[in-house]
Amino acid sequence: MRVMKYASVGVVGAGVMGVGVAQNLAQTGHRVVLVDITPEILGRARAEISKNLRLTPLFDPALRNASHSAILDEIEFTTDYEQLGNVDFVIENGTESWNVKQAIYARLELVCREDCIIAANTSAISISRLASTTRRPDRVIGMHFMNPVAQKPVVEVITGSNTSEVTVQAAKDFLQQMNKQAIFVKDMPGFVSNRVLMLAINEAILIVQDDVASPADVDEIFVKCVAHKMGPLATADLIGLDTVLLSLEVLQESYNDNKYRPCRLLRQMVDAGLHGRKSGRGFFDYTGRGGR
Ligand code: NAD
Repeated sequence: MRVMKYASVGVVGAGVMGVGVAQNLAQTGHRVVLVDITPEILGRARAEISKNLRLTPLFDPALRNASHSAILDEIEFTTDYEQLGNVDFVIENGTESWNVKQAIYARLELVCREDCIIAANTSAISISRLASTTRRPDRVIGMHFMNPVAQKPVVEVITGSNTSEVTVQAAKDFLQQMNKQAIFVKDMPGFVSNRVLMLAINEAILIVQDDVASPADVDEIFVKCVAHKMGPLATADLIGLDTVLLSLEVLQESYNDNKYRPCRLLRQMVDAGLHGRKSGRGFFDYTGRGGR
């Protein structure tokens, strides 16, 4: 059995990403404390992880003989932040909103050990800005995990203005424990991936809004003509249309540039509760396919 430097990990936020990160951590031998605001959200998270574990051996043959209940037992589901008092690392996956994240960092500052490293999983918010709300800006770093977490081998890691070299090395070691490769980038809103991806998704939605093509045809062009694994609209459904909207708003505000202005159709869909896979419907229908 391998000895791990960072054995105990807090995961804050049990939405699309928190569920994936917690599952990946438990699968790779970590003890996980998963925190969200209501028992109902945590109950859904547990059910989702349990379902994913049944499918995981299809993607990861190494897990074929693993006990699903033993993996699930490695995760403590709780609404109590105090349970984060002894973790080595926290991965924060709260809603993509400055106000929500700021409140989370204030609580983490109160309960986490002084040497605990906080990794922000955000689509677009500045890591330096998040770090500045704490008394440990040297121990805050960005870890932009990709979705679905267990199937994606690479994490975009963002160093903030005050992230220390010690924290950078710790992040490398920690991601290695999760069997992930880190690609380091500097701190600008949206980093590399979402600065490009969010523009592309917004433009693809505008194409549907302008009635140029159906969602299925837009995506098929990217899959069959450009050899992308997934079209931009299926990708938006996977991310969550609410999170896409919030990310575009962060980018528009951060760069003060209207090229990131979210289009009308995106807002209408979010207002109507069409959030993509997690709500069962977005540009495509997941109700028959077990969409969240
Ligand atoms: P989500 O909306 O599915 O989940 C967010 C969760 O945070 C919710 O369960 C919510 O209840 C919880 N939360 C809100 N306030 C909280 C608090 N005070 N304490 C604890 N939990 C709280 O969002 P998501 O898609 O999981 O995204 C989480 C973060 O990861 C966002 O910053 C997002 O931009 C980023 N991200 C998302 C994706 C993606 O594909 N969805 C990919 C990479 C990064």
